[in-house]
Amino acid sequence: MVSREVQAHDTVVRFGNASVGGNKFAVIAGPCSVESEAQLMAIAEVVKKHGAVALRGGAYKPRTSPYDFQGMGVEGLKLLQKANKELNIPTVSEVMEVSQVESLCEYVDCLQIGARNMQNYALLKAVGESKKPVLLKRGLSATIEELLLAAEYIYDAGNPNIILCERGIRTFETATRNTLDLNAVAYLKQRTHLPVVVDPSHGTGVRELVIPLSRAAAAVGADGIIVESHLNPCEALSDGHQALTGPMFEQLMQELKPFVEAA
Ligand code: PEP
Ligand code: MN
Repeated sequence: MVSREVQAHDTVVRFGNASVGGNKFAVIAGPCSVESEAQLMAIAEVVKKHGAVALRGGAYKPRTSPYDFQGMGVEGLKLLQKANKELNIPTVSEVMEVSQVESLCEYVDCLQIGARNMQNYALLKAVGESKKPVLLKRGLSATIEELLLAAEYIYDAGNPNIILCERGIRTFETATRNTLDLNAVAYLKQRTHLPVVVDPSHGTGVRELVIPLSRAAAAVGADGIIVESHLNPCEALSDGHQALTGPMFEQLMQELKPFVEAA
C-alpha cells in the first residue's frame, strides 16, 4: 500500500497547520525532551519565529540507561498542548507503548514512533487504528525494506498518514553517533509515495554537523527534517551535545530558505 506502484502521486501528511510532503521542505524542531514550561515555551517561540512548521519534544523518553532522565510524562504532554495553543504550532511527541496512545492523541498532533520501537508491531497497529499522523523512525539496525513493512502495518490498520524518518543507522563507524543513510532517502523517494524526513541530530550526534547534513537532506530530495534545538544545550537533560542553539537554528533556517519557501 505504501508503494509508488499503488499510488503514483506523493502523499502529503497534514496536522494542524503543518504539512509534510509536496513541494515545501518542512522543518520540525524543538528539544529532545520537554524539561519545563520555561524551557519549552522559550525554544518553541524561537523555532516558530524562524519558520518551523511543527514543534517536537519528548515526554516519554527511550533512554539507553535506566538512570537517565525518563521524561516528564503526561505533564510534558500538557506543556506541549499549551505551546500549541499559545503559539499556534502543531506538536510531535514520541509514544513508547500501546497504553500511552490514547493520551498522546489527546494532547499532541503527530505521534512519533522511535527507532527502538520500529518493529513493535502491537504499537504500530495501535497508532494505525488511532488515525493520528505518525512519524515513523527507522530502527537502529533496520533495513529500508523493514522500515517500509513497518509503515505497511500502520497503513493496513487504517492510517495512511505516515511520515518516514531516516535517523541514522549503526555501522562500524564510531566518529559520529550513527551513520546517516542518505541513500535511503533517495531510494525511499523512488519506492514509496509517503513523505520522507531526515533527523540529522540523531543521525550525527554532533551539533556542528547538523546544518551541513540538513543541507544534504534538502539536496537529496527529503521532504523535511526533524532537528533538536535547545536554548541552553549545556543544561539539557538529554541529547544536549546534538542540540542546535537558538542562533544556530536561525542560521539553519536562513540556509534552507530556498527549499522552505519553494512554491
Ligand atoms: C528522539 O527523537 O529524541 C529519539 C529518541 O529518536 P530515535 O528514536 O531516533 O533515537
Ligand atoms: Mn533525542
